[in-house]
Amino acid sequence: MRVLIVGGGTAGWMTAAALAHKLAGTGVSIRLVESAEIGTVGVGEATVPHIRHFNASLGFDEADFMSRTEATFKLGIEFCDWGCIGDRYIHPFGAFGQDIGGVPFHHHWVRARRAGLVPPGLDSMSLPVQAARAGRFGHPSPDPASLYSTYSYAYQFDAGLYAAYLSAFAQARGVVRTEGKVAGVRLRPDGFVNHVVMADGQEIAADLFIDCSGFRGLLIEQALHTGYEDWTRWLPCDRAVAVPCPNAGPVTPYTRATARMAGWMWRIPLQHRAGNGHVYCSGFIDDDAAEQALLDQLESPTSSTPRRLRFTTGKRRRQWVGNCVAIGLSAGFLEPLESTSIHLIQLGIGRLLDLFPAPGGWDPLDAAEFNRLMDLEYERVRDFIILHYVATQRDDTAFWHHCRTMALPDSLATKMDLFRERGVVVTYRDGMFLEPSWLAVYLGQNILPDRVDPRAGLVPDAEISRHMAAEAERCRRAAAVMPLHGDVLARYRQGMAS
Ligand SMILES: Cc1cc2nc3c(=O)[nH]c(=O)nc-3n(C[C@H](O)[C@H](O)[C@H](O)COP(=O)(O)OP(=O)(O)OC[C@H]3O[C@@H](n4cnc5c(N)ncnc54)[C@H](O)[C@@H]3O)c2cc1C
Repeated sequence: MRVLIVGGGTAGWMTAAALAHKLAGTGVSIRLVESAEIGTVGVGEATVPHIRHFNASLGFDEADFMSRTEATFKLGIEFCDWGCIGDRYIHPFGAFGQDIGGVPFHHHWVRARRAGLVPPGLDSMSLPVQAARAGRFGHPSPDPASLYSTYSYAYQFDAGLYAAYLSAFAQARGVVRTEGKVAGVRLRPDGFVNHVVMADGQEIAADLFIDCSGFRGLLIEQALHTGYEDWTRWLPCDRAVAVPCPNAGPVTPYTRATARMAGWMWRIPLQHRAGNGHVYCSGFIDDDAAEQALLDQLESPTSSTPRRLRFTTGKRRRQWVGNCVAIGLSAGFLEPLESTSIHLIQLGIGRLLDLFPAPGGWDPLDAAEFNRLMDLEYERVRDFIILHYVATQRDDTAFWHHCRTMALPDSLATKMDLFRERGVVVTYRDGMFLEPSWLAVYLGQNILPDRVDPRAGLVPDAEISRHMAAEAERCRRAAAVMPLHGDVLARYRQGMAS
């Protein structure tokens, strides 16, 4: 079986590395074509915890990987000004509090909040939030009895360095890299891809083609005309401008997303710099004003030229068609508010490996199952991202008025109704964004349910006050003795140097 991967961005090299490692010895040959002239999208620095499993499955050493990609630890995302201007909360990779008497913690917290027994905001009820705010980081404990086992973490890294790291790994395991531009794609009479034609006339044939060519979707769209589901009616932001700058202070173990008049800005701290960007809706702010707004709030002067990007939120109607599978931006795009794109790449790779075509035959069921699973993942992430825009009380600009009042996908409307009515979080057996994530956003953005579990009302006020205060103190104390984030990074670097 010959596999050709078209594109050498994060998607292309993650796919090449994973396939080379997992399919070693099976007779599968892997070739990757990339074009330095075209380049990569050049952003994509914040991740979710699942990336650790990807790296571990390839046998990466964390200290080595982090030093080579200038990575920092990430305990969550701080959201500023999303519910109301002045609001701040962290969506952590971890749980809030413990169930009391078999009733989920948040029912008790909401009751206590309504009774004025606890301050606003769930932040004090989370160890990773307390650690993030204190600039501290420690690896989670494997002991389920320990408070230190109640959180997870991800990384913030330089996407270009990560692709280079993966590229070296993949090429050491036999992936053949070809530099050059794909100028054409030739199909067989049955609609399968037969070969690509390079700008120098060379033809490269394969059995399986993986389209990692970015937004342009060279194979999946330009050759196979698969079609695109446009989700801008729910997620209207369609442009971004990005620029790095030097770090002005200690490197924080979290990403920041600040809501602005027609979109939001990110700040992602890496070891050697901070990544900054402004995601905005061109219907409500023009490109120059959006770029100026970004430059005006940088923490330190930059000599880099801002990079402007355009996108349409949505996904390909089918991500696997015939013998072509789209992974990465060629498959779809959701704005990076919850750092999910690299995770969707990882999911695509995992599903492809699970359903990897058998030699000598293509079963349409494989493609159908792949598409079903990926559709589900994209839609779940989409709903969660939309939640940030609609769970708001902001009405200060036309953009926020639009977001607050827009029609929602039924799947999200049902979830929000259930929470608003009685505090129920619709959750999944597996996948992205489980109960704590939804709670972080609902409660962080001031959406309190009308009713909670009646059993929460049976706990006396004094007892619940004591419980909440003790929980906050437990998290505060546990965070206070964690090492400083900068010290952990320095230790890793020293370990690599010695
Ligand atoms: C504004 C913004 C911010 C983002 N932030 C995050 C984030 O914080 N976290 C996250 O997880 N994701 C983020 N993403 C998404 C992330 O950047 C991408 O998912 C990731 O970089 C993968 O991109 P890719 O490899 O699919 O495409 P690209 O990086 O565009 O790579 C495409 C590759 O295809 C090659 N290519 C294209 N055409 C040809 C041709 N004709 N011939 C040969 N080669 C060709 C290119 O040279 C390149 O190598 C962000 C995206 C945007 C737009």
